[in-house]
Parts: sequence; structure tokens; C-alpha cells
Amino acid sequence: MSRVLIIGAGGVGGVVAHKCANDRDTFSEVVLASRTLSRCENIQRQVRELRDREIEIAQVDADDVAQTVTLIKRVQPALLINVALPYQDLPLMDACLEAGVDYLDTANYEPPDEAKFEYQWQWAYQERFQARGIMALLGSGFDPGVTNVFCAYAQKELFDEIDSIDILDCNGGDHGHPFATNFNPEINIREITQRGRYWENGEWVEIDPMSQSRTFDFPEVGERKAYLLYHEELESLVKHIDGLKRIRFWMTFGEEYLTHLRVLQNVGMTSIDPIEYEGREIVPLQFLKAMLPDPSTLGENYTGKTSIGCLIEGRKNGEHRKAFIYNVCDHEESWKEVRAQAVSYTTGVPTMVGAKMMLTDQWRGSGVFNVEQLDPEPFLEELAVRGLPWHVKEL
Ligand code: NDP
Repeated sequence: MSRVLIIGAGGVGGVVAHKCANDRDTFSEVVLASRTLSRCENIQRQVRELRDREIEIAQVDADDVAQTVTLIKRVQPALLINVALPYQDLPLMDACLEAGVDYLDTANYEPPDEAKFEYQWQWAYQERFQARGIMALLGSGFDPGVTNVFCAYAQKELFDEIDSIDILDCNGGDHGHPFATNFNPEINIREITQRGRYWENGEWVEIDPMSQSRTFDFPEVGERKAYLLYHEELESLVKHIDGLKRIRFWMTFGEEYLTHLRVLQNVGMTSIDPIEYEGREIVPLQFLKAMLPDPSTLGENYTGKTSIGCLIEGRKNGEHRKAFIYNVCDHEESWKEVRAQAVSYTTGVPTMVGAKMMLTDQWRGSGVFNVEQLDPEPFLEELAVRGLPWHVKEL
């Protein structure tokens, strides 16, 4: 029985609130705090209507460590769940250190003025978290998150040696808008427009953005063209999966999406460098975010499915093995259950499951951990029960 403090009332925060509220045995009290109180109120109302449960809400600016520390001291949570934005990771880790509370997030820290997608800043908290006797769990969403746990499970159960991993992320859904991003537009567009990168034979190979693509046959979605991107879980998996020779990340995009993105890039709207406009400094990408549909509003008419997994090759008992470990999630089902689209759902469910692993001491330690460093089995068991069943397909 534990109280949790969720920070961030966006698309993912809503799912985490619903899912925690649904498991009364583990989450005895749920407190949701965010920068804009009205977004917390909306989620509070939904949870009351759909789950018949009261959650507490609060306003906080998570960039301000002192404000968060005051909130933590009032709420006294066993765990702080960060589903605000990657910019808040370090201030929230600082607040957890000061207050002596465990921490969990779904995305690595991003410096506001430079797209990096690196763990170095958060890994640097290792000694401080150890010395304080508290735990930080990094990247407990879907990718990073479930995909890392799939890799850990493959290493533990399915393979004696792993040669290569291809993480394949397909959103085969349709939200009906000409252009929208499925999670925070600023982070999403930063991720896609940076140079591509993968790891092979002990070194990183860099490629031009979106310059390599391949068609994969995704379970329950069909054939889709996917593009090689750099994604943050590659950095931690290279460290934690033994003997790996190559790891890459692929994501599908439709032609319509890519055309819009190309135009926006060409006119400078995806830039994070501030410009002066009518005497004010604005960041073009932040302005674009304000114009695009809010990801948390996409769910209502979303149809289709996400199909995401890890294609892994290696050996078991001296024999070559190739297996795909994956999950398929339906946008309409997600909407019915928690009023969210499947991208928020597939992120929010593993967030709740990671939180449960920590609160029940199935995942425990002092210091900073990526999810693949912990036992994959209890996590995967719980994941299937909480709405994301997963499968292994031999190829
Ligand atoms: P949204 O933009 O929908 O929500 C973010 C929320 O954080 C908003 O409610 C926002 O408040 C709040 N917030 C922003 N800044 C602050 C602040 N300074 N203090 C308090 N609250 C703040 O994003 P998503 O819900 O789509 O994504 C949430 C996180 O999940 C992101 O970090 C994203 O990168 C990550 N993610 C991870 C995935 C994975 O698989 N690992 C997949 C998808 C997302 P306001 O409403 O006031 O702006």
C-alpha cells in the first residue's frame, strides 16, 4: 500500500493516473500534479467517472526544485513518477534527492536548447542516489521501456548469445488529422529531425536523417515502411546486453506525415534556435507545438493499432535463432478504457507496471537503473495483466 505522486497531466499522465487508480492494492493514494491545474482536473473527473475513485490533484512547476520539494513533503509519496517532459528530469531528480524519495521516468533528460537524447546527465546521479539509499528507474515507457525489457528477457530466457537487435516501432493507426504527433510534438519532432545513428561492431555509425528505410511485416498491421532513427534506448542496451554486434531502431511514417515534416523543416518551423518576432523571442518548434493538435485529444476518433517489438537474432543451444517479441495495441480499445490513444496507452501502462515493481520491491536497489538491468519476468507478467499482452514469434 503506497502513495504515488505523478507529475505531468498530458496524454501519458492521464493513462498512468487511470492505471494506478485501478490497482487499489498497490496504489493506496494517487496524487496528480502538473503545471496547468485544469488538465489535472479533467483527468481527476475522468477517473471519478470511469473508475469510481478519487485522486488528489495539485499545481506545480517541476522546473522549480523548491516547489516540488514542498509538494513532496506535503504529499509524502513512496515514489515520484515523472511523466512531464524530458526537460524536467534533472530538476525532478534533484527534488527526489533532497526529499529522499524514489524516482521513475519514461524519457531521458533533454537540454532545452540542444537535441541530444543521451543518458549521461542522468547516469551522473548514480553515486548521489546510492549515497541517499534511493532508486531511480529510467525509461519505463514502451520504447524505451518495454522494448528494453523484451531484450533483457531474450538475453535471460530465449538466447545464449545475441548478435543483433532491431527495434521496430509501427503506429498503424489513423487519427484523421493531416498532421499531428502522437506524443509531445516538440520532443517527437526533435527526435525525428536529428541525424540517424546505430551501433555496429563496437562503434556508432551516423547517417543523414531518414536516409535509410526498409519494409517490415508488422503483426496485425501488415507491411509498412520504417525509417532508421537514433533512439535513446540504444545507448543503454549497448551497455547492458552482452556480446551485441549490432543494434538499430526503426519507426514507420506515412507519406503524408513525411511531406508535412519536410515542408515544416524547409521553412524553419522545426528549429529550436530562438528567433525574434515582433520584439519577442520565440522558438519556432514551440510555436509549432502550440498550433498542432494536443496529443491527449487525438484519442476519440483514432482507429487502427500500434505494433512494436524487438527482432532479435543469435543462438540458443548451438542453433541459430531469430525471434520477434512484440505487443499490438488497439487505439479504439485504449480510448474506451482510459480515454487515450494507443501511443499514450503503451507508454502509461509500463510506467504503472514499473512503479508497481518498485513499490512491491520486486525491483529494488540504490542508484540509477535502466529497466533492462532488472529481472524482466515479473514486469512482463504484470504487463500482460495490465493491458499489454506480448508474444514471441519464431522466424
Ligand atoms: P504532453 O505534452 O501531452 O504532456 C506533458 C505534461 O507535462 C503536460 O501536462 C505539461 O503541462 C506537463 N509539464 C510540462 N512542463 C512542466 C513543468 N515545468 N512542470 C509541471 N508540469 C509540466 O506529453 P506526453 O504525455 O505525450 O508525454 C509525457 C512524457 O512521456 C514525455 O517525456 C515523453 O517524451 C514521454 N514519452 C515516452 C514514451 C516511451 O515510450 N518511453 C512514448 C511517448 C512519450 P502543461 O499542460 O501545462 O503544458
